[in-house]
Amino acid sequence: MRASSLAISIVCGPVVCCYVVFAACFCPGRLQRHTESDDKKRFERRQKVAPRPLPIRPPERCLTLPACLSEKAARSATAPKGKTFEQTQSRLLQLPLELRRMIYREVLGDKTMHIVLKENRLGHLRCKAPSSIECPLGYNGRSLSRECCWGTVDSANIWCPRNGERKRTDGDILPFLQSCRQIYSESIDTLYSTNTFSFSDLDCLRYFSCTILPSRFALITMLDVEWCMSWPIYDTTAQNLLLTNPALYPPNDEATWEATWRIIADMPSLKFIRASLLYFDGFRDTACESKMLAPLFSVTKPDKENFEVHVSWGGDEFPDAPFTLLRPMVRDTLSSDDEAW
Ligand SMILES: [Zn+2]
Repeated sequence: MRASSLAISIVCGPVVCCYVVFAACFCPGRLQRHTESDDKKRFERRQKVAPRPLPIRPPERCLTLPACLSEKAARSATAPKGKTFEQTQSRLLQLPLELRRMIYREVLGDKTMHIVLKENRLGHLRCKAPSSIECPLGYNGRSLSRECCWGTVDSANIWCPRNGERKRTDGDILPFLQSCRQIYSESIDTLYSTNTFSFSDLDCLRYFSCTILPSRFALITMLDVEWCMSWPIYDTTAQNLLLTNPALYPPNDEATWEATWRIIADMPSLKFIRASLLYFDGFRDTACESKMLAPLFSVTKPDKENFEVHVSWGGDEFPDAPFTLLRPMVRDTLSSDDEAW
């Protein structure tokens, strides 16, 4: 038995060595794959399919009517190309502008828009609940989500249709906006100024801010942000204990968190913010929680009553905060936290 084992070792040893040398030289990823964390894989996939920001150069032909330009700019060689015809035959456009705006608001406004991350772009879906507060918020094992409202996501939190269904994610808004250039020009502001924009992923908000025109992003008045802190941010001791590699991958890191609130702080028209934060372990160290909440102090709009921060853990009050901090009534067990959500 020992002789046969020795023979097998002599025969197979060189083969195994050759494989290791070959793999190390030509396929280093094969040797390292099992050591890569799931977070790193998720991060790399999200980076690969991240939406591209708007180009800095102006578009050849803007969608809004040239009337938005000054006369001098309109006459210049760089003025947008294309013709716009009078829509005198349209019964809608025969109505007074005030009535048309009421119709635009009915069609496009006063709803909650869930912004979802898709491959190479963002998608948006109208909330099926009467209001964003009534839209059920759940935990899918990785992050907070509203999957019962807008469908499923994959392990990288990228939207994927349920059962392979090829469902559009334009919320039935785009056909109306694309029907006529005058209607688009008159109604596009209503879309941004009257809807609540709901984000369950910090990267979504960041991508949204750089994939639409800054003038449109500045029109947003109502914001709903849900975020699950999967790792102990601002707690280096806990990070060193829990993680082999203490570095947190975006969007679960401190830098993304702070960048998110810089974006929100720069939004000039906000009238209401609701931030819902889930952290299973809670903050055992008040100093770490203070560091986590510090970026929210830079938000000056809206006022305290209209800036709600719901957290899933107990702790001290922050009387000087520019937001209303709402903690759960009971936080003894995880199940009680779930009920609070
Ligand atoms: Zn919803």
